[in-house]
Amino acid sequence: MRQATVYIDQTALQHNFNRVKALAPNAKVVSMVKANAYGHGVKDCLDALNATDSFGVACLSEALEIRQAGYQHPVTLIEGVFSEQEMPVVLQHRFECVVHHAEQLNWLLAHKTQYNAQGLKVWVKLNSGMNRLGFKPEVIVDVIKLLQSEGFHCVLTMHFANADEPDHPMNRQQIDTLLSIQSQCAPIELSCCNSAAIYNWPELHFDYVRPGIMLYGASPFADRSIEELGLKPVMRLTASVMAINHLNTGDRVGYGSLFTAPHAMDIAIVSIGYGDGYPRAFIEQNYVSINGQLKPLIGRVSMDMLAIDITDEQIELGAEVELWGEKRLVDDVAKANGTIGYELLCRLTQRPQRQKI
Ligand SMILES: *Cc1c(COP(=O)(O)O)cnc(C)c1O
Repeated sequence: MRQATVYIDQTALQHNFNRVKALAPNAKVVSMVKANAYGHGVKDCLDALNATDSFGVACLSEALEIRQAGYQHPVTLIEGVFSEQEMPVVLQHRFECVVHHAEQLNWLLAHKTQYNAQGLKVWVKLNSGMNRLGFKPEVIVDVIKLLQSEGFHCVLTMHFANADEPDHPMNRQQIDTLLSIQSQCAPIELSCCNSAAIYNWPELHFDYVRPGIMLYGASPFADRSIEELGLKPVMRLTASVMAINHLNTGDRVGYGSLFTAPHAMDIAIVSIGYGDGYPRAFIEQNYVSINGQLKPLIGRVSMDMLAIDITDEQIELGAEVELWGEKRLVDDVAKANGTIGYELLCRLTQRPQRQKI
């Protein structure tokens, strides 16, 4: 059988969740499980996150998936609804939604009576400078006051554009805008911290923190390793050696014949490729781990296979290769490919087998 397997480590996931609790002991935790739990498979993650206060998702179908899996935690739709038709479903299930533009507000008000939405938590999104979603500072106070007068429990929320760069001047501007709105709406609950912000600004944890990437044991920072952050990798992506070839000097490898053997060498063909979600484009030399040692990729990654240099190693057919996980961190694979761990995790395909461990 072709081996390409994603292992999801429950102990590591719990460890990272506990790390959030230790860093933000006074805040409630909205565990972000959008995009199929950052590619980890939401069903394989909910159990280990059972102690969370709520789950955060990007859309209604992701929220329904949590209910279908049997979990009754509060669920927040961090982008709210995408059309009026979704609002009745949201209210029926008592999902908490973000409201970030005027139409969403109207839809909520239009449907609230029918579904007895009294007291429901609504997350009112401030556009504090990212200019992606949210009400501008000039109008948000009125929106909050209206929702409060209609009997909703409002949470003032925003998102940092540069939380991964603590010294970026935009951060101060966004924080000041948030605090100014808070003072005009006091008392009101607040939430602004993703993983990077949880580490950077303990004073901004407020009522709810919203960790995503740190739960999965990848770093939100380009320059801080998970070891430094006290996190453990949750996903291990493995494949196996499906062929071994001996090359003579000058032999070429793979599509485009990009690699030329500088000397006699042994290479292993590994049963994973971009069809599984392993990145094809590489910028810098990239490595996999085999028998606990890092070995370089050579030539182009194919859809189903890639090649590695195993010269001078005793490697057997069928040997396990770690593409990322414990010995080769997803953050390092991401760097070698000019991207971030988030993207590599999320864009895994459904092709590798999945196993909860
Ligand atoms: C995805 C997301 C988060 C989590 O961000 P991480 O960087 O993965 O911790 C938090 N808040 C919002 C609004 C998000 O969209």
